[in-house]
Amino acid sequence: MGRNLEDIDLKAFLFDMDGVLYDSMPNHAKAWVHAFKSLGLEFTDYDVYMREGMTGSSTISEVFASQLGRTATEEECQRIYKFKSQCFENLPQPPKMKDVEKVLSAIQAAQKEIFLVTGSGQLSLIDKLNHSFPGVFARERMVTAYDVKKGKPDPEPYLIGLKKGGLRPEQAIVVENAPLGVRSASSAGIFTIAVNTGILRDEELLKNGADLLYHSMEELYLDLPRILGVTKNLR
Ligand code: CA
Repeated sequence: MGRNLEDIDLKAFLFDMDGVLYDSMPNHAKAWVHAFKSLGLEFTDYDVYMREGMTGSSTISEVFASQLGRTATEEECQRIYKFKSQCFENLPQPPKMKDVEKVLSAIQAAQKEIFLVTGSGQLSLIDKLNHSFPGVFARERMVTAYDVKKGKPDPEPYLIGLKKGGLRPEQAIVVENAPLGVRSASSAGIFTIAVNTGILRDEELLKNGADLLYHSMEELYLDLPRILGVTKNLR
């Protein structure tokens, strides 16, 4: 907290993927709730959104500990996560987040670089991104599950993103939607914009270190000229 837009020598935006580029969280929520329900365990949509970015094993272990009073075995974690993934795959492809293309285009027009920092480990991610957002993302400007050891909420993924771009924290802005993602970016010392595209209370994002908060990509898009104006031509 306490970072100022005025102190940013802006070179790049670092984007999270789920809930930012794609409106994929409703599907994740459906799949997790269904997977736990099949075991007789309580898990709400809100629980899913609060844990976004956590590994599957950590989520399963937490629910086992709180509701069954024991840890989940490795085998249980794998089986339940596999079932959740199958449920997710069976749902229709999530759409692009409304108005995100306008945001990306405006950033490109301002000649700022665009990086992706995601916990996703989908194999054909770059193909999918190139199909959805032609000419925006590149492999050398991406951090995925394969690049990290700890993942969000650790600052590691965003620190790796900065390193890939040869950037200092004060040269970038992060766009995130999840509490743990905001905490990761904020702990990496980067100015963090939260776009609350889901069902959580704003407070969940603000208390994890969001410097600015919007409720839609449209809102962010409308404020972008101000953000770019305040940060540019500083030094
Ligand atoms: Ca996200």
